[in-house]
Amino acid sequence: MPKRLNPNRIKKYRSYTIQEAAYTLDIHKNTVARWIKYDGLPIVDNKRPYLIRGTDLKTFIRNRNTEHKKPCGLGEFFCCKCRQSRSSSQVFVEVYPTDNRTGVITGFCNVCSTKANKFINQQQFKQLKSKLGSILPMGEIHIDGGADPRVNGAFKDGE
Ligand SMILES: [Zn+2]
Repeated sequence: MPKRLNPNRIKKYRSYTIQEAAYTLDIHKNTVARWIKYDGLPIVDNKRPYLIRGTDLKTFIRNRNTEHKKPCGLGEFFCCKCRQSRSSSQVFVEVYPTDNRTGVITGFCNVCSTKANKFINQQQFKQLKSKLGSILPMGEIHIDGGADPRVNGAFKDGE
C-alpha cells in the first residue's frame, strides 16, 4: 500500500524541483517523476529541471490521499502503472459470467490509458447490467461518473 503523504509539508507559494519535492515528502524522486509522467501532476514548463508549483503539488497530494481511501467501484480498475484505482470511461466485457462463474471486464485507465482487467462475479455483472440497461457480450459500454455502490434489488433479468 502506498503511504499517505502530508500535503501540509508543501509550501503553496514556492516551486519545487523533483528532488526537492521528493525530499520534502520523504519519498523517492522516481515517485514524483512518475506522478508527472503518468498521473497528471502539472509542471511549470518543459524545461529541465522540472519545476512543480507548491499549490499544484499540494492539491495533487490531497487528491491522491482521497483516492486511496475509496475502494475500487464497479467502473473502476486498479491501474498497475498509476498504482491506484482509476475510473474508466470505456468498459469492455471480455467474458460473460454465467451461473456463479467469474467474468472478466476490461477498462482503460482514464489517466494513462493502460489496459486493466478485473474479475467480476455475477452479482457485480448484474449491477453493471442494470446500470447500463443492456449490454452486448464483448461490446463497448460506457459508465458515467462514479460507481453506484447500491445493489439494485429491483433488477429483473430478462432471461
Ligand atoms: Zn493509469
